[in-house]
Amino acid sequence: MSTPYDRPGTYNPGTGEPLPPVAPSEPSEISAAIGQARAAQPAWAARPAGDRYDLCRKLARRIMENRKQVCEIMAAETGRTATEAFMSEVVYLMTAVDSAVRACEAATATVPVPLSFIEYPGKKACVEAVPRGVVGIIAPWNYPLSNFYKPLFPALLSGNTVVLKPSEFTPRTGQWLYEQCVAVFPTNVVKIIQGAGDVGQKLIQGVDAIVFTGSVPTGRKVALQAAERLIPSSVELGGKDAAIVLADCDLTRTVAGVGYWGFHNAGQNCAGIERVYVEAPIADAFVAQLGKLAAALRVPEDLGPLQNPRQLQIVEEHVADALAKGARLVAGGKPTGQGLGYAATVLDQCTAEMRIMREETFGPVLAVQRVPDAEQALALANDCAYGLGGSVWTKNTARGEQLVRRMEVGVAMVNNHAVSGTLPESAWTGMKDTGTGIAQSQFAYATFVRRRTVLVDTNKDPDAWWFPANADLAAFAEAAAQKSLGSFIVLPKLVGLISKRVKAIKALATQK
Ligand code: NDP
Repeated sequence: MSTPYDRPGTYNPGTGEPLPPVAPSEPSEISAAIGQARAAQPAWAARPAGDRYDLCRKLARRIMENRKQVCEIMAAETGRTATEAFMSEVVYLMTAVDSAVRACEAATATVPVPLSFIEYPGKKACVEAVPRGVVGIIAPWNYPLSNFYKPLFPALLSGNTVVLKPSEFTPRTGQWLYEQCVAVFPTNVVKIIQGAGDVGQKLIQGVDAIVFTGSVPTGRKVALQAAERLIPSSVELGGKDAAIVLADCDLTRTVAGVGYWGFHNAGQNCAGIERVYVEAPIADAFVAQLGKLAAALRVPEDLGPLQNPRQLQIVEEHVADALAKGARLVAGGKPTGQGLGYAATVLDQCTAEMRIMREETFGPVLAVQRVPDAEQALALANDCAYGLGGSVWTKNTARGEQLVRRMEVGVAMVNNHAVSGTLPESAWTGMKDTGTGIAQSQFAYATFVRRRTVLVDTNKDPDAWWFPANADLAAFAEAAAQKSLGSFIVLPKLVGLISKRVKAIKALATQK
């Protein structure tokens, strides 16, 4: 039997109300978009960096000024409230673009190469950042605006042109962003293509670098496809974040914080808390308070619905598996009956054998496992295929810092979780199956720029190691090696040998 949710991107997940379909791009439109972006790139890169910075700021301002419009589009596509979309994807945009500019300046500054004037006389060298060309950005549906602008700003700021590929589940938010870009940037600096995975694959075939955010299986395919073409790819993949709650935590703040980062966006957050390891002495009180918090949360006012039926199915399967294996249901545990809504859920007495403790759920479920001590919590937290975020909750922040540094993650927090996702000067990154991509900060720029070394030689003499390989060559090499080992006595000898070698080289080059 068909349901309103059968075709991706054609429904409001909160209500089931239909949304008009968005047509996928034809193959000819995909190659045209890439070609036009490529043709526009040299002029865009030739502009003064300050112009690009100003235009990116203008785009951010334009999005802010039209925030009501985009938040309503996001609300319709995701079922979240417009307020929630505003809070998590728009409100910090102006500060985000300023941070992105600072990160770009740090990442793309030209670096001089120090050179010894004895062995390398008359030379100057530097390493510069050169834009890759056309950057493709493939984004998932969970944050349909911010998943784009996090890579969009660095790509544009550093002189690339960009082709966007939204998820087929949320095509309209990407389309809206594209239209704002058209109003701000020169023609063809930003392009868009629409459609499913096959469209993403075609994009990778034509661009010079790819930024992908999404699931592990797709990320593997993307990384392989990019590797075959020898283009850089940044793949930012799934997570199964753990929070370690120590007995000395501030209980009220910890319940509020773990609850927020577990249920925010209905748990459809790559760095949402999915597993909680709580020390036994505080476990009863923690679970009871967390259960009360979950029971009081409303869908969609506090957390939206799941975005698509497949996501709802995964959540239901994981909860059923946990309950069948002995977990205790503390709150929620069922769909709301309205759209794809699912109640905020707390499961207690979870164990490592349960799917809910191992596989990405991407839903509003906090699975709690009670542990005797912090070491046990750490071992269980690290026994995981993913490595995105992790947190430790304690009043002893020095101990928290020590412990969190032993978590196998890319984003480590004490008494908070995932909050650095809105700080563009911090690296958003992971390890293990989360992938090696870096989504923000100056450290993300390997995807956006290649490095070029430029050396200019004004030395009138030839270099001392050029032909011929006469008897002085070995002595010269030995003297240079001794100098590198710290011998200053060897300096006059080295200078003399260089002079002799230069004469011999000139003689060879000027012989009749
Ligand atoms: P998917 O991997 O299914 O899709 C991500 C994007 O890739 C979509 O635009 C999708 O198109 C496209 N795509 C699908 N197949 C291919 C292909 N073969 N080649 C190129 N592109 C393709 O992920 P979801 O959309 O389901 O997103 C949820 C996942 O994203 C979760 O695992 C979540 O943890 C992760 N994520 C990670 C983040 C991080 O920073 N680490 C941040 C946000 C999400 P379409 O949707 O149209 O099929």
